Formats: sequence, C-alpha cells, structure tokens
Amino acid sequence: MEPGQFDLLDTPRPSQPGRDEVQVRIHRVGICGTDLHAFAGRQPFFSYPRILGHELAAEILEIGLTDLPHNYRVGERCCIRPYLNCGVCGACRRGYANCCMNLQVLGVHRDGGMCEVINVPIDKLHPASLPDEQLALVETLSISAHAVRRAQLIPGEYALVIGVGPIGLGVTQYAHQAGARVIGMDVSDSRLTFARQQPGVEHVIDARQDVHDQLRDIIPDDLPTVVFDATGSAQSMLKSFEYVAHGGRLVFVGLFQGAVTFHDPEFHRRELTLLASRNATAQDFEQVIRSLEEGAINVASWITHRASPEQLVADFPSWLDPSSGVVKAMLRFT
Ligand SMILES: [Zn+2]
Ligand SMILES: [Zn+2]
Repeated sequence: MEPGQFDLLDTPRPSQPGRDEVQVRIHRVGICGTDLHAFAGRQPFFSYPRILGHELAAEILEIGLTDLPHNYRVGERCCIRPYLNCGVCGACRRGYANCCMNLQVLGVHRDGGMCEVINVPIDKLHPASLPDEQLALVETLSISAHAVRRAQLIPGEYALVIGVGPIGLGVTQYAHQAGARVIGMDVSDSRLTFARQQPGVEHVIDARQDVHDQLRDIIPDDLPTVVFDATGSAQSMLKSFEYVAHGGRLVFVGLFQGAVTFHDPEFHRRELTLLASRNATAQDFEQVIRSLEEGAINVASWITHRASPEQLVADFPSWLDPSSGVVKAMLRFT
C-alpha cells in the first residue's frame, strides 16, 4: 500500500501481552494532521503500509507479567501515550523521553491504534474517568500543554498563537489557564470563527491582513512576549520572528521539513529565546486529564466529524480539504 490508498483489512488478533505489556481494546481514535499528511504522502518519516492511529481511547483487556508497580484493572478506560522511547539513550536517561533519540511513535513509525486490539507497553497507559471521545483528545491536548509548559508563561503577558487548528486551539486553552492573555491568528475564516468562540481567546487576528497593524490595536506599545507557531508552515514560521517582543520567547510547536532561517541582528536585537516543543511528557498527560476531569477545558464542540471503520475509508480523503470544516474527526469502533 502507498500514499493515497486507505483500506480496511482483517488482521490477526495480537498474541497475549508480553512482559511489561498490556492488551487493550481501542474504542476511539482521533484523526489529526499527521494522519492526513501520511495519507497524502507528505509525511517524510513514513513507510507504507502503515496502520495509523496515535490518539487513542482504550480499555484494558489483559495485563501481561510485570514487575513494574501499577494498579491497573481489566476493564479500566485509559488513553495511551504513544511515544515509545528506548529508555537507554542520553535523552531518556536525563528524563526527556518525549524527545528520545530513538523515538518510535505508534501510528507513525510503527503500526498504531486504528485496529480493534493492540498490545502496548504498560508504562504508556493513563487511566482516566472521561468519556471515550475526550480520552481520545488527551494526546493532542498534551502536545499543546507541553508547548505551553515550554514557554513558562507569566500571568498577564500576551501570547500570540499562530495557527488555531486543534493543536493551536489547545495552546490557547492552556495558555489561558496559565494566565496569559491570548491572541489567536490564522489564515482560515472558519478557524478564526471557531477560535473566537473558545474561552480565554481574547482576540483573533487575520494572518492575511497586516499583522503588525492588528497587533498594534491590541498592544499599542509592545508585541506579544510569547509567540507559539502551530502551523507547520515554513512561511509562517519564518515570519513569526517578527511578531515577538524584545526579550520574548518563540515556541515552534508545528514543524516542517526544511531550514528555518532568520536575520541574526533581528534575533540578537530582540534577545529572543527560540524553543522547540516535541510531543508531550507523562506530566503533560496527567495535567490534561485533570483539566478535562475538572471541566477546566471543554472540548466537546471540537469533535465535528465521526466515522465507523467503514465510513472512515470513504470519508478520510475529504478531510484533507479545509472546506470540509473538520476541527477534529474521530474513528469509533463501538
Ligand atoms: Zn495527532
Ligand atoms: Zn531514548
């Protein structure tokens, strides 16, 4: 199989969970840009065929032999942190499992959760008392929460979030929770409209218009002290340096395959801090689960499309088109 071809197949049920593994039934799978790019053949790390699916709501079916401490129960609902780290590289040893040097992401580098039953490492489970659809959003939200954690926001400061698709929307929500005053920016009318309805998004600006003019209307004598770019667009990321206040931080959440270049004197003049944000940590997952359980973040309206496995094969290509109005699509098995 290859880019552009998406099939529904019968595969053998996995064998019993191995040592330190848990067998889970997948109930929901969130669909995200990564999946759509993989389908379109724009995901450079991909090899085909591949079972997609890394935003997973699961139920524990069987717990393998393990010496690791846990109190998981069969039947318990959980989400899965899909970043399989090696445990031995320098990054892992220093506690940076989210950017392990040998990282393998379920549904990206190896087969993921778009199938009914899979085995996963026991240390990747995050049980939660949440509806399945919310469980399936925890991974996406954790990426946003991680980016916000990277920025170390100071209450009251302005944060500009460029790109308000699901990851950027999540950034607006956790930035607001951290006390920032949030400005959303996008090139899409439907995304701007949706972002404006989210709690804590004080302003939205249109990236197709003069951005500096619009920022000046909001902050007359300064610029946002934190800028998040969640577009994955080279053009946007190159421009984003201009929108950061002197002394500010720029956080790259989205990525693109190419070189980011910037004018060093501008970078120095501003004494900018440039940060990358990759995946998320267990701590981010726990923060997101808590925020959903407490109702501090409300994502019910984000799920705009739902599909059974049969429908998914038919509907998937159409979600590549922004005019389909997809914020978040979800595969449901039951
Ligand atoms: Zn995703
Ligand atoms: Zn590692």
